[in-house]
Amino acid sequence: MSVQRVFNQYASDWKRLASARLIADLNSIVLLFTAVKKSVEQLYEDYKMKRLPVVDIALCSKCEGCIAICPSVFRYNSVMDFIEVIELDSYPEAEVDEAIRDCPEDCIEWEEQ
Ligand code: SF4
Repeated sequence: MSVQRVFNQYASDWKRLASARLIADLNSIVLLFTAVKKSVEQLYEDYKMKRLPVVDIALCSKCEGCIAICPSVFRYNSVMDFIEVIELDSYPEAEVDEAIRDCPEDCIEWEEQ
């Protein structure tokens, strides 16, 4: 086998190896980004799950505006005579934010669990 032929064979093998390595590296990067994305999404879901709206009943005027905006979360407790938050696994963030914005007494807020 001539030196040129050995060199050509070596160069060809090296190119194949480099291509395979590059593809493996790209696959690793894609897998890494996918794992990071899933982790961030899970963290965000955990973060959202740990927030719940609370009503400061000392300030609440019982106008029932929050119930009109977000009846799936707020309700009037006629026995105890106060507005209460219904226990849910998660809360509709946009609707609760709207109830917070529109509460005339500023007595609704998110609480971290
Ligand atoms: S909107 Fe505010 S003041 Fe009115 S009932 Fe709801 S919590 Fe009370």
